Amino acid sequence: MKAITSYHRPASIDEALALLDRADVTTTVVAGGTALNTVDLPDGTEVVDIQGVVDSAVARSGDTVTFGAMVRLADLVANPNTPPLLAELAHREGPNTLRNASTIGGTVAEGDWESELLAGLLVHEARVAITGRKDPIDLPDLFADWSLLDRAIITSVSVTAGGETASARTGRTPADTSIVAAAGRIVPGDLRIALTGVAATPILVDPEKLLSLDPPADFRGSSEYRRELAEVLTNRVIAELGGVS
Ligand SMILES: Cc1cc2nc3c(=O)[nH]c(=O)nc-3n(C[C@H](O)[C@H](O)[C@H](O)COP(=O)(O)OP(=O)(O)OC[C@H]3O[C@@H](n4cnc5c(N)ncnc54)[C@H](O)[C@@H]3O)c2cc1C
Repeated sequence: MKAITSYHRPASIDEALALLDRADVTTTVVAGGTALNTVDLPDGTEVVDIQGVVDSAVARSGDTVTFGAMVRLADLVANPNTPPLLAELAHREGPNTLRNASTIGGTVAEGDWESELLAGLLVHEARVAITGRKDPIDLPDLFADWSLLDRAIITSVSVTAGGETASARTGRTPADTSIVAAAGRIVPGDLRIALTGVAATPILVDPEKLLSLDPPADFRGSSEYRRELAEVLTNRVIAELGGVS
């Protein structure tokens, strides 16, 4: 039996929210749709395609860069307003076939523990605008409470540009998804380091407290190995940022 039974393409955000808000129907938002084949949807799921109703523009105002949630990763890479670290890390998210379809909103909603773009967003102080909420949510708060996305839609993701940035990673091959990766950004008085591959989502870390990490293990690396990589890669990023800690 096919899991998906209906496809909706609403003409307004209100119509999209009304479709998601039906008590007796299981729905899922679809943006780029790249994750659709990888998830186990319950039978009878109805798809709400938001591409016609959510912004796909990149806007800059002072130090703030705002990406509409429908900005495709390929467009994010190419946009001159995108901070260089985010362009570099978005380019690492899968092949160009995937980047041409997948969106920043979908990437945030997936919260993939190996996403280097999410690590970059964390060090760039990402705030996520969600329907039904007056103020944007800090990205770590969304990662801590996925219920914020129940029957809701991410409309944009804003970051603070500027600062010195660096990244480092270890993978089985240079092109493979990193086992652990580090992203760093420093503005005067504030060093931010984020890691992938050490927790259920990418996380901001305190470089002094890496020993307290308890990374999940898989066939590519034990928990101890990942903790060791966290320390080595964090130190590399800090060294590239001028040795400040
Ligand atoms: C071959 C392959 C390789 C992949 N590699 C990577 C990778 O390297 N890194 C990585 O992070 N992911 C990867 N993924 C997973 C996924 O493709 C990406 O996370 C992608 O960026 C998701 O974006 P999308 O727009 O296609 O989302 P969709 O597939 O449309 O949606 C993904 C999820 O997010 C929700 N969603 C989407 N947009 C919104 C929104 N605006 N508001 C609320 N919820 C929303 C959907 O309901 C769904 O649950 C890969 C997938 C495949 C098939």
